[in-house]
Order: sequence, then structure tokens, then C-alpha cells
Amino acid sequence: MKSYRLTAFEKPLELSNGAAPSPQGREVLLKVLGAGICHSDIHIWEGGYDIGHGKRYSLEGKGGVPLPLTLGHETAGIAIHAGPNADDVALGQSYLAYPWIGCGQCAICAAGDEHLCGKPRALGIYRDGGFADHVLVPDSKYLLPLGGLDPITTAPYACSGLTAFSALKKAGDVIHSQPIVVIGAGGLGLMSIGLLKALGGVGTVVVDIDPKKREAALAAGAKAVIDGTAADAASQISGAAGTRPRFVVDFVGNEQSTALAFNAVAKGGKIVIVGLFGGAAPWSLPMIPLKAVTIQGSYVGNLAELCELVDLVRTKHVPPIPITRASLDQAGDMLDALRQGKVVGRVVLTP
Ligand SMILES: [Zn+2]
Ligand SMILES: [Zn+2]
Repeated sequence: MKSYRLTAFEKPLELSNGAAPSPQGREVLLKVLGAGICHSDIHIWEGGYDIGHGKRYSLEGKGGVPLPLTLGHETAGIAIHAGPNADDVALGQSYLAYPWIGCGQCAICAAGDEHLCGKPRALGIYRDGGFADHVLVPDSKYLLPLGGLDPITTAPYACSGLTAFSALKKAGDVIHSQPIVVIGAGGLGLMSIGLLKALGGVGTVVVDIDPKKREAALAAGAKAVIDGTAADAASQISGAAGTRPRFVVDFVGNEQSTALAFNAVAKGGKIVIVGLFGGAAPWSLPMIPLKAVTIQGSYVGNLAELCELVDLVRTKHVPPIPITRASLDQAGDMLDALRQGKVVGRVVLTP
């Protein structure tokens, strides 16, 4: 088994060769067909987040990310071996792996929200993931049959697609009556344009500071695009949406983007923050009650949402976001390219 592993934070990924694990119990071994590289892989590589006020949230040490670790939480592959109790998996079939696995014991996991479990076992973060030619999935219940979907374009739905989908679902019925605003036209922002359409939304106004990404958003079907650095960006948003937006989703999550979201959103509206770029909250506290605004966080999504999403992709033919295919050996270079903002859409490693 070949994998690219993080052995020390901020150091190049290291190639490892060894025997593939042999599945026990309900475990399943997948031969990897596609493994997406996600922006959060950069945070893991860096070993932490900028949380503002000059502070940093570290992923090192107890309760953090265990090293060495094979990154990769957007993985699709063929089931090739299964433990004796994984009787609901069909060997030779292709699956998407739900990566946001919890302890499976607590009340949060029992309620179906394993992604919010306090003792996470997520693939590619707390246990080995998909930057490899094989990945061990701890239980067959985390495998979603691809049923004819392309494993390369479907792999990113496990994180970026699910994250966009779960964030959009937090808008409720607003999507049917007015355009929503998406800040950030990276992988998630681009994906949310097609997802919103599949959900019956009336349209997306997309904000990005990079003209190339705004172009990509228009190509993906955005109703309008706006330069986030413009002094009048908030009023341009209202102009493009025809009204002050009641729902703004921020896929960037820095001080500038959340400040713009706050200035643009209508009274009584909602801002959902997804991006983990970093920084501190820039809002005036009295304006939160005065605008009666809801500020909500959204972190990936649960297994039921991923099932719903994969069904939606299959039945509504959601267009895939632009994908750059790369060989497994390019894992480190591609991670660097993403870190330098040189990637439009998504890179998927194909062993
Ligand atoms: Zn991710
Ligand atoms: Zn749990």
C-alpha cells in the first residue's frame, strides 16, 4: 500500500510503502479511485488555525491530529475486502466514503450528527484517509454506493459538496423567493451554485476578490458576480439581488468577508459562516440585535445529508465543478498549489 503521509506539520508529505490493512469486524478496504484535496488539508498540514486576537488554535498534541497521518477526506473507491461482519457491502462495487465519523457511542452520534461528536474519528484527519492507493473505512455504514456516478467528480461531495449542501439547507425557504449571496468562489462556492439550482433556488450572487474566480462563478451559472474589494460591494450585492439578501453564506471566513456579509444582509436575515480562513469577529455588537441578524456556523454535514446530496446529484444531474486530475505522486505539489491559491475548482488525486 502506497500513501503520502504528513509526518511533521509544515513539512513535505512523505511517501510510505507498506502492507494494506486487513479489514476486521465491519471494516471495509477500498481501492482508491479518487481523493479530493480540500482547503482544510492545508490547515491540517499547517497544524492549526488563526483564531484572531493574535491567537492560534493548534492541532498538535493531545486531542489533536495524530501524526504520522495520511490526509484525504474526500475519497471514492472500489470495495475490495470486507471484515466478516460487513455483510451489507458488495465487493467490486464503487462507493463514496462518508468521512466525518464520530465515536458512535455518544448522544450526538446516536442523533445522527457524528460530524459534531466530541471524540471524532474522521478519515484523513484523525485516522488515515485517501491520499493513498487504499483506505480502510471503519464500518460499511459509512459507504454510499456511487450507482454509476463518476468516482472522480463525486469524491469532493464528501466534504466540499456536503459542506456547501448543509450550509445551503440552513437557508430554509428563502432560496425559493430571492437570490442568496455566496462569498468565495473556490470549490465550495462554485459547487453551491449548481446545488442551489438543484434545490429549486432562484439564483446566486457570488462575491470574490479574484477576477478569475468570478469568471468561473459566472461560467458555473451565477446570476451576478461582485468584486469583494469594491468600496460599495454591499450595495452592489443588493443591486444584483434586487433587494437586501436574507441569506448570506461565507465560504471564506475572514474579517473582510464576514464584515461584508454583515453589512449586506437584510434585517432579520442570516449569515452562515463556513470558511476557516481565520481572524476575529469584526461586527459591532449592538448592530447584531439592531439588525436582528442570525450568525450561524456550519461544519461539514451528517451522513443523512450526504445520502440526500448524492441522490440529488444523481437525480438532478448537478453539474460537477471543474476538476483537475493529478496522480497520487503529485499530492504534495498539489497541496502547495492550493495553498498558493493557484487552483480553480478542485484537485482530485487518482492513484
Ligand atoms: Zn474538506
Ligand atoms: Zn460520538
